[in-house]
Amino acid sequence: GADDGGGGAQHVPSLLDHDVATLPGIGEKSAAILRKRGHETVGDLLWLLPKQYVDQRHPTPIHALEPGMYCVVSGRVRTVRRFPRGRTMGLDVRLEPEHPPDDEAALTAGDRAELKLVWFQAPPGLARRFETGRVVRVAGEVSEFRGTASMTHPELLDADAPGSIEPRYPEIPGLRRKPLRRAVRAAVDRAAAEVPDLIPSAIRDELGLGAVGAALRAIHVPTDDDSLEHGPGAEHPAQERLALEELVLWELALRSRRTKEDTGGARPFDAEPHTTRAREAFSFALTAAQRAAIERLAAGLQSTEPMRCLLQGDVGCGKTAVALVACAQVVGGGAQAALLAPTELLAEQHVESLRPVAERLGLRIGLFTGSLSKDQRRSMLDRMATGAVDLVIGTHALLSGEIRFSKLGLVVVDEQHRFGVAQRLRLGGRDSQHQPHLLVMTATPIPRSLALVLYSGLDLITIDQKPPGRLSPTTRMLSRGRRDSIHRQIARAVEAGGRAFVVCPAITTTDDVVGVSTVAEEMAARFGEDRVGIVHGQLSTDARRQTMRRFAEGELCVLVGTTVIEVGVDVRAANLIVVEQAERFGLAQLHQLRGRVGRDGQKSACILAHDAPLTDDAEVRLEALCQSDDGFALAETDLELRGPGHLFGYRQSGASGLRFADLRDMALLERAGAIASQILATDPKLTLPEHAPARTAVTRWERFAAVREEAG
Ligand code: ADP
Ligand code: MG
Repeated sequence: GADDGGGGAQHVPSLLDHDVATLPGIGEKSAAILRKRGHETVGDLLWLLPKQYVDQRHPTPIHALEPGMYCVVSGRVRTVRRFPRGRTMGLDVRLEPEHPPDDEAALTAGDRAELKLVWFQAPPGLARRFETGRVVRVAGEVSEFRGTASMTHPELLDADAPGSIEPRYPEIPGLRRKPLRRAVRAAVDRAAAEVPDLIPSAIRDELGLGAVGAALRAIHVPTDDDSLEHGPGAEHPAQERLALEELVLWELALRSRRTKEDTGGARPFDAEPHTTRAREAFSFALTAAQRAAIERLAAGLQSTEPMRCLLQGDVGCGKTAVALVACAQVVGGGAQAALLAPTELLAEQHVESLRPVAERLGLRIGLFTGSLSKDQRRSMLDRMATGAVDLVIGTHALLSGEIRFSKLGLVVVDEQHRFGVAQRLRLGGRDSQHQPHLLVMTATPIPRSLALVLYSGLDLITIDQKPPGRLSPTTRMLSRGRRDSIHRQIARAVEAGGRAFVVCPAITTTDDVVGVSTVAEEMAARFGEDRVGIVHGQLSTDARRQTMRRFAEGELCVLVGTTVIEVGVDVRAANLIVVEQAERFGLAQLHQLRGRVGRDGQKSACILAHDAPLTDDAEVRLEALCQSDDGFALAETDLELRGPGHLFGYRQSGASGLRFADLRDMALLERAGAIASQILATDPKLTLPEHAPARTAVTRWERFAAVREEAG
């Protein structure tokens, strides 16, 4: 049928595409309101899901009403009063219980004896429906005004008809509830069966999966008391089907990109003599794990198939050096490389720390961030376009549309926190015949299971070794109340020629969060104003750069900041880090922070200063850090405790754009991955007719992903 002949279905006008105005009760005015909110078609309206089921069969007694409830009330009209409101008339109706309680004495003083209904704009004729003494039924949200329960603009239900369980949709200003409900219901009846399934029916049958349309219907049309029990939200059994659909789409989008990109192929780059020269340019000997990673990257870069690599390794294992060797290989072959850092601070720091090695290799290195002056920016754009710079290190500013490289061979994404960045890279790819190779480096180790699912398009290379002579920092928990002890340890660290970081969860102090400003004042009072510096994201680049330099050179001995110092900031003399309100940070993040100290092989320490008492969850996390210095093991623990959102530092529904799926549900993720693999195994470009819905959805997803990244 239309379902399986997906290729043909593209051209058959579907009921899903009909305008919302074709639905009963939706006039031009309502249609305009809906369209403005993105509900343009009948199909769109199917995805406007109810937020609650309301039991109209069993009204809530007036004495039991609480503010915030949305419910149905049946009551007897006691008084009706019209009042002027601007140029129109308002209406105030008071309801009393239909049947007085059996035992009046049982009512306590706080119980309510009446419900006030208010319309600020009463349509003519409304008052006539409320004769004194008549029993009416209304539905609405209860609020409280001066001790009286009230409902504003409630929905008037038919008092005589038997009630049913009704879905309640999100309020849309300008639309009345009943017509909206009726329109959505009509959309479900007309078109739910036509919702295209991304998963072709052969696979669905094999797995015993229902159609998405059936899942949508089940959510829109509550049928029994079970519905009331679980509600339309995450607990609803049909939600899992929608989550699976969403994850399959996600997997398809991530995986098929690789296939699509390889149209032009990539430039191949010889490894020798460039990688050998580069390896010898460092002032230290590379670890065996670094050399192995370099070898694998070198092989990837020699291929005409674009390399897509994820390099992961614990904090401090030396990923940057590995990346630089790869850059040198590409530049040696006459092309350019770009390195994308998550913050300006890090981009600048990469430039500083790589400059000596780059100079030894004759690599021309440049910085490109949003805070370049107009002239600097123009000059860099020019150098990129003419090939006068070999390695450009920058921030998201590098993703802007006007960037042109003369010959871009490799893109390195450092410390990737967000999805999509790697996928969205088009740096130069557009006007060149060739795709650049891609190397993504993670800020924190990711559990292997998760990496396989999330980065399924990428080859995984792991560095499982740290440079020799590293002592892991001694990590201790300490109550924040013990300021003396904290100050003493900072003093001791500084006296030994070291430096201390103090990290706060926020810039400004609020009721329960301690900010950089407050702690900086405290430290200045203790260690002297001219020895304490501040870094956070709201300071100018110049100010931050100066402070970092003074800290690195030892002029400042205490640096108070936010997590901007989390990623990659490298001050070799730093030997103590204090994390204020450590319980507010994720495990992976704390591990990353801790990696900022002890880089010079000297003894170092990390103090997790926490407010007491700790929740159980926080205690487990902080304890885990004190016990283990293995980033991979900690990542597994973090995944179990808090889900991947915290590993990556993005809100779940934010950057990932997922509406139904919880990324913590590894079982569902794996199912989705398996289904996507099965689809792509037979049809990597999604060209078969039964994959037309998937192809369309992937194209749309990509469009929205770009918009999300732009906005995010
Ligand atoms: P990460 O993998 O966390 O990004 P970096 O690349 O920033 O780590 O390296 C951490 C520090 O270790 C840097 O100061 C770097 O110069 C140094 N480093 C890297 N590799 C080695 C090595 N093989 N021996 C000694 N020091 C190294
Ligand atoms: Mg790094």
